[in-house]
Amino acid sequence: MPRQATLPVSGLDHTNVGTVRTIDSFMDGLRDREPHLPLFHQAAEAVARSVWPTLHQHPAWGELRIFERLLDPDRELRFRVDWVDDEGAVHTETAWRIQHSDLLGPYKGGLRFTPRLNRDTLRFLAFEQSFKGALTGLPQGGAKGGSTFDPHGRSDAEVMRFCQAFMSRLADHIGAHLDVPAGDMNVGARELGYLFGAYRRVHAGAGRGVLTGKPIASGGIELRTEATGYGLIYTVLEALRHRDEDLADRVVAVSGAGNVALHAAEKAIEEGAVVISLSDTSGTLHVKEGLDAERLDRVRDAKASGNHLRDVAGDVGGRMVGTTPWHLEPAIALPCAMQNELGVEDATALVKSGCTLVAEGANMPCTAEAVGVFHESGVARLPGKLANAGGVSVSGFEMAQNAQLVPWTRDRVDEALRDRMRDMHARTVEHGTEGSHVDYERGANVTAFLRLAQAMESQGV
Ligand code: GLU
Repeated sequence: MPRQATLPVSGLDHTNVGTVRTIDSFMDGLRDREPHLPLFHQAAEAVARSVWPTLHQHPAWGELRIFERLLDPDRELRFRVDWVDDEGAVHTETAWRIQHSDLLGPYKGGLRFTPRLNRDTLRFLAFEQSFKGALTGLPQGGAKGGSTFDPHGRSDAEVMRFCQAFMSRLADHIGAHLDVPAGDMNVGARELGYLFGAYRRVHAGAGRGVLTGKPIASGGIELRTEATGYGLIYTVLEALRHRDEDLADRVVAVSGAGNVALHAAEKAIEEGAVVISLSDTSGTLHVKEGLDAERLDRVRDAKASGNHLRDVAGDVGGRMVGTTPWHLEPAIALPCAMQNELGVEDATALVKSGCTLVAEGANMPCTAEAVGVFHESGVARLPGKLANAGGVSVSGFEMAQNAQLVPWTRDRVDEALRDRMRDMHARTVEHGTEGSHVDYERGANVTAFLRLAQAMESQGV
């Protein structure tokens, strides 16, 4: 087992940890060096367990401290954003941009606006993003950022003023060849439009490629909004095809009711699946016979106008059933809400009721214990860095579109997205196959790690 493997380097000398012999002692060193980052440590440990044997096969990478260097972000920006609301009250928010790695291309990754945001969350997301970007095969680095600003209940004018204030602080640190932010939680085309407008006012003539996920009218690409959710289902289809199954009539539980969840549900319904759930802070909407396109539209409209699932449950023939959908006995589970939303009891319930596939629309939605349950039970779990990489892939196409000065059609984007997901799935299977079983976590981590490690080695110290 990788747990016992040794890493042939002397370890994190700068932490005085001494010789690192096992993953556990390596992780202890990481925790000692920077405590208070539990999410980052969780993400790092998952990758360490996957790549340990690969590191063992490349002693030179140990000498070059490739893994330690890949774990540590290149740069962390933390800044304050002051803004004024419609009543004239002054607010002050904390904001960050964590530039994790630009080994493979410009720093790339989303911005999230949410009051509970903190440095730990962004450290883990930026690290994951570097591996996700590497897995796409596109020239992309990894970064993540955002702010404690809560856009809920704010007017358009307030969101605009906040975006302008935020960008006035960030503008000097990003650029089409340096760092290309996009959307994430609560940051969509509207916010990116305002951010782009603010950027252009301070960097005239800099071109459109500094942000992705922009409104189409401002140089955005078709299908970017749908890309993460659609890409998730394209990957699920690949994984099912790999074991001679398909999605028609399969019972699918989706958590979340944001951009990823709604578009994943839409595409799954299109593919004939029975999508029985969505969830938000008001609870889980259960529609026993499955949502159809028309009911999903009603949910979408309700969410867009600021309502909760609870408010639309009766309207779409469903009822509210607790906080998560994992006890509803789905064949396929799509956690699309947020990190660590699916715990060990949820995983156990899913395994017991016969779930055989979990695909992560969110980043790291399963706790480490839940991951262990799926692993031991032989449930295929497609990690977020593979399954939700459709979003950042289409961001890559948007960068290409902006550089080419030629718009891509919707069909072209959709075909390129399908190709990209198929290619990522195939490379993951290549590195993750163990006998008749595919360890998708290992496959994705190793595929991404090989690309990053080779780049790091070739670029010298
Ligand atoms: N925030 C998205 C993600 O988690 C997209 C990032 C991007 O398009 O740069 O992958």
